[in-house]
Amino acid sequence: MKSDQSALAAGILIVPATEKGRGGGHLNRCIALVKDLRNMEREVFLYLPQKDRTPQIDNLLKTKDFNPGWLFINEKFFDTFGLIILDRYQTPLNEIIFWKNHAPVIGIDEGGSFRDQFDFLIDILIPQKFIKPSANITSPSLLFSKEKSQISYISRSFLKNKEQQEKKILITFGQEDTAGLGIKTARKLSVMKNSQNMDITLLRGALSDNSEIKKINNIKILEAIPNLAERLCDYDIVITHYGITAYEALFAGTNVLLDHPTPYHKKLAAAAGFLDAGILFKNKTADLNRIKIILEQKPLYSAWYNNSLYSKNENESLAELCNNFTPMVNKRCPVCGDDTQENSIARFKDRTYCRCKKCGIIYMNRIIPPPIEYEKEYFFESYKKQYGKTYLEDFDNIKNAAKRRLKIISDISRKETQKNKNILISEIPSLLDIGCAYGPFLAAAKEEGYSPFGIDPAKDAVNYVNEKLGIPAVQGFFSVNQNDANFIPHSFNVITLWFVIEHFTVCLIVLNEIKKLLKPGGILAFSTPSFSGISGRTNLKNFLSESPCDHYTVWSPKMCRRALLSAGFKIKKIEVIGHHPERFPLLGKFANNKKSFIYWVLLAVSRIFKLGDTFEVYSQTAAD
Ligand SMILES: [Zn+2]
Repeated sequence: MKSDQSALAAGILIVPATEKGRGGGHLNRCIALVKDLRNMEREVFLYLPQKDRTPQIDNLLKTKDFNPGWLFINEKFFDTFGLIILDRYQTPLNEIIFWKNHAPVIGIDEGGSFRDQFDFLIDILIPQKFIKPSANITSPSLLFSKEKSQISYISRSFLKNKEQQEKKILITFGQEDTAGLGIKTARKLSVMKNSQNMDITLLRGALSDNSEIKKINNIKILEAIPNLAERLCDYDIVITHYGITAYEALFAGTNVLLDHPTPYHKKLAAAAGFLDAGILFKNKTADLNRIKIILEQKPLYSAWYNNSLYSKNENESLAELCNNFTPMVNKRCPVCGDDTQENSIARFKDRTYCRCKKCGIIYMNRIIPPPIEYEKEYFFESYKKQYGKTYLEDFDNIKNAAKRRLKIISDISRKETQKNKNILISEIPSLLDIGCAYGPFLAAAKEEGYSPFGIDPAKDAVNYVNEKLGIPAVQGFFSVNQNDANFIPHSFNVITLWFVIEHFTVCLIVLNEIKKLLKPGGILAFSTPSFSGISGRTNLKNFLSESPCDHYTVWSPKMCRRALLSAGFKIKKIEVIGHHPERFPLLGKFANNKKSFIYWVLLAVSRIFKLGDTFEVYSQTAAD
């Protein structure tokens, strides 16, 4: 046990709902998930609080062959986990906050009111659009691994060809069945006409309180059916509640009727399109045989489940999915450092966006790292995809834009020198361009009389700057090189980042580093996409869905003022750029031709109301 728990670098802790009344479904699923992940050699533990441990639960663990060493018992070491998965049904806010303080938190089928507090959400049994916000991943196919689906397909086709002699009904309401629906249903069926001709089985769960009931007329009572999921195909009808068994039965080609332990279960069942078991008991003289024939003629599929399951080719299991997770989650705002718990504003398969309540930045939490390397390919293929030409082919255009930017910078420093005699502008002002790429801005700066210096992670780009442009540049990620002799505190007059700041995971550190490197009164200038441009305003979710997977923060001119001020920079000028008349709602589709009147009008509107999709900021450190 001890050695297991000390080697928990990026381990996963799985926390099921185990309180009395929650049924065994969550616990069963979590036990299976731990076992599957262990088979993949992932460090994973199950957490059962001591207060929830009952002899029944211990017994269940034993029947499931659960290794006791996989139970996590030392509550002092929650921080050793890299990921926490809650399968808690409806998690209270204080509990979510508690877990989030230890590690990134994923909710599986979370049905509570605080869904938006989760770093990531996976819905397997919750139908799409049933609860807001939508999950990062919604996929009932996660119920079934590839292996399992093959078994089910085989059993389905087998069932179709089989001449069944005996008609069979299974009643199962989970491990616990606190509402006693199993017994109630069995008793109702036992007195129905023709019930003696049926093979009716009541499966009473391991955690059930009704163990004293041993006999009901015409009903077979079982304590357990080993590998239940694989045996469901033996039945003609399964009567159960909304949950995994219902879907497993559908998957096995068996008709399903549902009764509901809670109004929440009832709502879920209706949203997923299941048929209510109430039809069996509508009139007192119901003939079970007749009802069964009706059911047989009409296979009962949940439309939602069927569409989502069969439209997907990926046959990934829940364990395979979780095993791929390497979350990158911000515990506090990456720009202003505020640690108030934030709500999510948009969720996608690989990421969740949150908005900081204090500074207003939108930042991204990722569930898997972005598949990007800042090498040659990035500037050639990715750039070409986006702009229709390679970065080098576009070099002169970018250089012209650089001249415009340099003019704004020199205007600001000139004004400042006139105003404040204490600022000493050196003969040749030094300029650092972070993320310099192939150096168009550095080249322009050199022409304008600066002493330029560049840094970029792409080796090919840095070589080009050094050799072809004859400008000094180093390869690396900025602020990793802080001890480098090239980065001496208070040594730069100007530091620039053109469409680079959004690539940093923690801007706060970067801004602090920049402040250190700048001379008093030095200028920080950068450009970045804006979420308050026409695209973000029209449809923020759509805008974020198209935001590149390595843009960790999304800024706006308005929030930028607040954020930079708290980082110690005064804003001197903001230029909203990236005007796209064709992106306007309604009229935009008529503005594809740059010579058209409508293009011209929308361009004017975009400029007047600052609706561009990108902007430039020019700011200055305090000249203390
Ligand atoms: Zn913030």
